[in-house]
Amino acid sequence: MGRGADRGLGVDFTFSLQKGFVDNRGETMIHEVGLRCVCNPEDLHAGQVKHGDQVLRRRTKYGCDKCGGEGYIYRKPRRIIALLTSVRLQKNQLEMGWAMPGDGIVSVKPGIELSGGDLLTFTWPEIVPDGQVIIRGAAQISDNLTRKTRLEANEDLLQYNADSSVYCEDEDNNVYNSGADFILDGSKIIKWVGSKPHQGKVYTLKYKAFLEWVVFLPPDIRRDRDRDLGQRIAARKRHVALVNKDPSGSPSSKTPFCDRLQSCA
Ligand SMILES: [Zn+2]
Repeated sequence: MGRGADRGLGVDFTFSLQKGFVDNRGETMIHEVGLRCVCNPEDLHAGQVKHGDQVLRRRTKYGCDKCGGEGYIYRKPRRIIALLTSVRLQKNQLEMGWAMPGDGIVSVKPGIELSGGDLLTFTWPEIVPDGQVIIRGAAQISDNLTRKTRLEANEDLLQYNADSSVYCEDEDNNVYNSGADFILDGSKIIKWVGSKPHQGKVYTLKYKAFLEWVVFLPPDIRRDRDRDLGQRIAARKRHVALVNKDPSGSPSSKTPFCDRLQSCA
């Protein structure tokens, strides 16, 4: 009698099949180790140390040289193969209350270790759901002029590395076209080169981009008889997980996606 039957479980895991399934059906993604930036202290006391008369803020630093003000840094990029499913296909997790529509569930092979706060980036473009609403020239408006936004006068910041435009329109119903009015060059910048919304006007852009996902919960560890079955990871789109984003670009905002991909191990 096999060991599985002893425990009342007639079918054992076949690891070669499991690994092959991820390899064959999975997608290549970029995994980066994500951790708090030095400008984002968690320790309340550390955040209250006085420097002269100035009390250090507990919030992140505008235009921080490391994180651009988002509060997290991402390091050690590498390519991994992972299976991704929509959380909507796993209704039990929605009903348990920790996930919401739009989240993703990622499975990786045994031996690939991710942790809470890490970042996953798709290597293929998808449409950013709902698009993005942007204030034209936000980096040049009032207090932002005193900050290091890393943006030129004809540039605005996008949430993701852009691939191509789907549609763009401003608050006065003017429609703008990619190539003629603005350029998306694979970075997180929309560059205005033709007719453009007036400074301070709001416009909305739907575009295809290389989506980024934050591991917003510590991954589930799956083990069976002292063997690692590979982690199950809950992931949330970056702009939803880190909502209080600063208007500044980060040091990597102007790096086209293909350059990021080439820097991966
Ligand atoms: Zn920082």
